[in-house]
Amino acid sequence: MKLIKEIENFHDEMTIWRRDIHRHPELAFEEKRTSDFVSEKLKEFGIEIHRGLAKTGVVGTIRNGDGRSIGLRADLDALPLEEKNTFEHVSINPGKMHACGHDGHTAMLLGAAKYLADSKNFQGTVHFIFQPAEEGGSGGDIMVKEGLFEKFPVDSVYGMHNWTGLEAGHFGIKSGPIMAAADTFDLIIHGKGGHAAMPHQCIDPIIVSSHVLSALQSISSRSIHPIDSLVISVTQIHSGDAYNIIPDSVRMHGTVRTFLPETREEIPSKMLNISEGVCNAMGASCELNYIYGYPATVNSVTETDISAKAAVDLVGKDKVVLNPTPSMASEDFSYMLQACPGCYVWLGIGLGESENGCILHSSKYDFNDDVLPIGAAYWATLVENQLQ
Ligand SMILES: [Zn+2]
Ligand SMILES: [Zn+2]
Repeated sequence: MKLIKEIENFHDEMTIWRRDIHRHPELAFEEKRTSDFVSEKLKEFGIEIHRGLAKTGVVGTIRNGDGRSIGLRADLDALPLEEKNTFEHVSINPGKMHACGHDGHTAMLLGAAKYLADSKNFQGTVHFIFQPAEEGGSGGDIMVKEGLFEKFPVDSVYGMHNWTGLEAGHFGIKSGPIMAAADTFDLIIHGKGGHAAMPHQCIDPIIVSSHVLSALQSISSRSIHPIDSLVISVTQIHSGDAYNIIPDSVRMHGTVRTFLPETREEIPSKMLNISEGVCNAMGASCELNYIYGYPATVNSVTETDISAKAAVDLVGKDKVVLNPTPSMASEDFSYMLQACPGCYVWLGIGLGESENGCILHSSKYDFNDDVLPIGAAYWATLVENQLQ
């Protein structure tokens, strides 16, 4: 392990930043205090800043002579969740919590900025991108649409997420898809309501919906390639409000996860065909509203090699897991990767065996401060390797 001594020297300071951000979580596009905090720190390090992309986004820039340009990204937002921890830095904002470790991401990127502003052991330009609203608000997409890469052109862009189930300080790195596309749907089944004791006079949408529910599961098992991945989860079924009335309709809602764009494209028509077929057979009808969400997070090959090299240089080959099983969760860094080649890696924070809640999005979660200097040093190594 070849950590950067200067960064280790301000481990305590990064811990203070991280816990301060943890105490003051803010939701999508409301990250005003966090955005101020980041801007103040960057200014303190002598870094030029730009504010206002996607409302609360901040971009810090260090130019050091001519050369290539690299983008490093962290996310600022918290989750709408009541924190159940009891430590001193517990959230003071009711119903809001940094349960995904974006507080840690922000602190690590600030740590890298502090070190790089001081050492300037590179030639070229580094843009530190702090984006709002990763948790469902498409803050990354909005920054791109508002001209992130026109205002701050980069040759490549890199992201990092803390990861549970991976040993603390280990990296998970993979080219191609690492996180899934996440879409949602509303499926309405129309039947004919009536007396529950006289079902022959009705078209019972609840019976129809139960057949549709199981038929939808045959899409992944029977109509896409067995090696390809697809999850269709019906997460809500709503209908009826009496013991003795067959309702008119059923509303079903859920999420669809895919990796390949061509598979994703086929899903709405496959869902509609199978739902309509079942409904027709039973005298009912249906409508499907399919809503595209975040695309899959797809790492480019060259930049994945660059990330892997930086991680291996830093922590050694035995702590870098190449080609981990990708996750069916999603990530809006995907939009930056659609606009620019790059790589998104996982930094392990532990196996989740401890009491302190190592599970992302859990009310007992807390970022593991031990990995702060490792994450910051990974960013610094990436820059120093790339911009020579
Ligand atoms: Zn999250
Ligand atoms: Zn997250």
